[in-house]
Amino acid sequence: MQYRQDKHGEKLSILGFGCMRFPKKGAGIDMAETERELLAEVEAGVNYFDTAYIYPGSEAAVGEIFEKNGLRERVHIATKLPQYLVGSRAALDRYFNEELLRLRTDYVDYYLMHHLTDLAMWEKLKAVGVLEWIAEKKSSGAIRNIGFSYHGNTDNFLKILEDYDWDICQIQYNYFDELTQAGADGLRAAAAKGVPVVIMEPLRGGKLVNMLPEKASAILRESPRGWSAAEWSFRWLYNQSEVTVVLSGMNSMEMLLENCRTASEAGVGDFTEADHETLRAVAAEIRARDRVGCTGCRYCMPCPKGVDIPGAFRCYNAMFIESKTAGRFQYAQTVGLTKEPAFATQCIGCGRCEQHCPQSLPIREKLKEADRALRPLPYKIGINVARKFMFRKAKS
Ligand code: SF4
Ligand code: SF4
Repeated sequence: MQYRQDKHGEKLSILGFGCMRFPKKGAGIDMAETERELLAEVEAGVNYFDTAYIYPGSEAAVGEIFEKNGLRERVHIATKLPQYLVGSRAALDRYFNEELLRLRTDYVDYYLMHHLTDLAMWEKLKAVGVLEWIAEKKSSGAIRNIGFSYHGNTDNFLKILEDYDWDICQIQYNYFDELTQAGADGLRAAAAKGVPVVIMEPLRGGKLVNMLPEKASAILRESPRGWSAAEWSFRWLYNQSEVTVVLSGMNSMEMLLENCRTASEAGVGDFTEADHETLRAVAAEIRARDRVGCTGCRYCMPCPKGVDIPGAFRCYNAMFIESKTAGRFQYAQTVGLTKEPAFATQCIGCGRCEQHCPQSLPIREKLKEADRALRPLPYKIGINVARKFMFRKAKS
């Protein structure tokens, strides 16, 4: 296992374990199998374990297994505040204390504001007193590092990054999504500020392994490197010095061993130009199924009406590359659940964006098509209800 450092010089394994889904037994977690996996990871040198309040049963399982095996001091636990449920200062304590109980510990190594999508969410937390609360928890040692996990666009990521002296952040990033969400610009900006970056979705939810088009798989097979599809994805990330930890939800011993081997071999600067070209060709094959040929370059941005143009097209394309539900879910998440929504329907047809698009896309027409597909009536209703709840007035 190789290690990179956090902001305070702590060594973090470059491969972290994403504890969102543990093996199942009936309706619950298979504790025996989960324990076997966690112990194997610790044995292999993994020391970063990422869970969250809302991952069903996860915090309790992690807490029980680490306590039972006396491993708490050997591992770093990252967990997350369900900030979308927080409407008052009292709620901060309530959720945090419950998490400590579940985790059977009196401190959290990395505590992240879960799922921020724009600056307004962070502002809402500040309005209920989160800054003072963090200062108290850090000074008592109950929280060692504070951070956020992120799912909005690049601009909002940069605003949140600049707004506070974060110890860590977590973003979605992989070779196919290099320009989406926080993206490469966000990654580099965080690293330039000395903020370690934890990567989630390195395999795009497994799709860069299980759902590659045949032509894309053939490109990888024909490469003299001989790497598996997963290995290509991890190595692309480890090649970047700005990446600190890459999370993987390893749910088989075989996967665990392969990922640990990659994490012990891969290094910064290993990728040759030919390797980059291979992944560009793979990404192009995946994109060949796109409904809109948007590269995510963002030359069309900003839109004066706040439309997230590349965001809408990415989600629309995801409906065809992944599934209808995946695209619609991503649209609701990244475009609909920000304080200032960025729906395609906000377009007034000024045409400014089209003058800057290197792909000469008929952006106005495609935005209408995308919104119709991405937001059928039940989704519209669901997003409105969620918005009312999330952006209700905070209690002091
Ligand atoms: S045409 Fe629509 S999407 Fe493009 S810049 Fe104008 S308002 Fe924004
Ligand atoms: S300029 Fe064109 S290709 Fe680039 S992000 Fe905008 S719509 Fe997509």
